[in-house]
Amino acid sequence: MYNIAIDGPAGAGKSTIAKMVAKKLDFIYVDTGAMYRAMALYFLRQGIAPQDEEQISKVCDDIQVSLEYENGEQKVLLNGENVNGLIRTEEVSMMTSDTSKYPAVRAKLLSLQQDLAKTKNVIMDGRDIGTCVLPNADLKVYLTASSAERARRRYLEQKERGIDCDLAQIEQDIIARDEQDMNREIAPLKQAEDAVYLDSSDLTIDQVVDKIIELFTACK
Ligand code: C5P
Repeated sequence: MYNIAIDGPAGAGKSTIAKMVAKKLDFIYVDTGAMYRAMALYFLRQGIAPQDEEQISKVCDDIQVSLEYENGEQKVLLNGENVNGLIRTEEVSMMTSDTSKYPAVRAKLLSLQQDLAKTKNVIMDGRDIGTCVLPNADLKVYLTASSAERARRRYLEQKERGIDCDLAQIEQDIIARDEQDMNREIAPLKQAEDAVYLDSSDLTIDQVVDKIIELFTACK
């Protein structure tokens, strides 16, 4: 099985790029952020405060996250419910970063993600894929861009979804989220030693996709 790991900060274009690479290589795309988001949605619905680690750890047992694919699109199911349309708000983004630092939350998803990569050719994106989930991935990419560019992309994406938003607020949220994701104790966001660093600030989507395919072809 071939595994490609893409890590990087929020809004770096990981999911857009990974989806396109998956299509070209006929791989399965696994969006691990969506899995953490589904769990955060559950905590929000239960009215649990993000600081309440004890309660969050307890209810992890009540949650089942699974993935399904329809025409190549990933659907994330929270206890059987398709929550794709509910997990991209800024509120869920922040709650996700606040709760993904807890060991119980990470343990819940780690083996699920590793099992997916054992049986299929996958391109998986997240924060700890190259460092923790798939340490033996055939190719690891650390994809980033300036925070201004990442905020601009996220703003356009939200607007396209019909969500009203503020560019300065988005940039602030992105910076806060990265800071939290990079400084947590378990599985922080960092570039794996053997990952290729790719700054996409001045590259088009197609250029980044081509670069990743080229890197993969070279290491296959
Ligand atoms: O990639 P996305 O922005 O959807 O991720 C949402 C949040 O989920 C991140 O800010 C991070 O806190 C968490 N996450 C994680 N590990 C991953 C993927 C996402 O902690 N592998």
